[in-house]
Amino acid sequence: METAYIEVRNLTKTYSAKNGNVEALKSVSLSVLKNDIFGVIGLSGAGKSTLVRCLNLLERPDSGEVFIGGQNLLTLGREQLRLRRQKIGMIFQHFNLLEQQNVLANVCFPMEIRGVPVRQRKEKAMELLKKVGLEDKAGAYPSQLSGGQKQRVAIARVLANEPDILLCDEATSALDPETTKTILDLLKSIHDTMGITMVIITHEMRVIQEICTKVAVLDQGTVQECGSVTK
Ligand code: ADP
Repeated sequence: METAYIEVRNLTKTYSAKNGNVEALKSVSLSVLKNDIFGVIGLSGAGKSTLVRCLNLLERPDSGEVFIGGQNLLTLGREQLRLRRQKIGMIFQHFNLLEQQNVLANVCFPMEIRGVPVRQRKEKAMELLKKVGLEDKAGAYPSQLSGGQKQRVAIARVLANEPDILLCDEATSALDPETTKTILDLLKSIHDTMGITMVIITHEMRVIQEICTKVAVLDQGTVQECGSVTK
């Protein structure tokens, strides 16, 4: 049997809120293979965002383990975790672009943080913009772009760190059906050509059907079902 690339074991996470505790994750276990596009579907409040945030430890689980490539993230020191996290890209429903910066600067930003020299990062950013079909928008500002174009910028930006894992948290939920399809096609082609393991969080079954190879159904913090997606 192929070994898992992302392995989550017995994750639990409880938030304390004013009107009592919320058990967001109740002993969640999942195995994602290197080549998977792994979907996690569930209603709002099911625990999807909490789960995906536990995969890069943006959220610390109360108990359980997270292994990536056989490495237990919870045992890593601060610096090791920072370096590991750089290779775990994340895209979001609301794109999270820097509104005051143009498209090129947005894509350059993660490379600037890493200290990549200006010329090199601009070259790489242009290459990535070409990959997402936006080479003619390098000088535009986010406010001048459509939702689909903004998500393309976010995808180019996330690729700038050459991730081996991409976490997509409701990445197409703010987009119309047609645009959703084009973004999913782009993600699929990135997966196929760059060999990036993907975890896709969504509340929409058609997203799962469109690109996922596996799916886990999350309900009230528990995995109800998990299996391959039949096309
Ligand atoms: P989903 O992504 O499936 O909508 P979430 O993981 O965002 O679900 O939330 C799961 C549950 O945990 C919900 O009941 C939510 O209200 C609660 N929750 C999430 N984050 C927090 C937080 N920071 N503090 C308190 N409760 C939270």
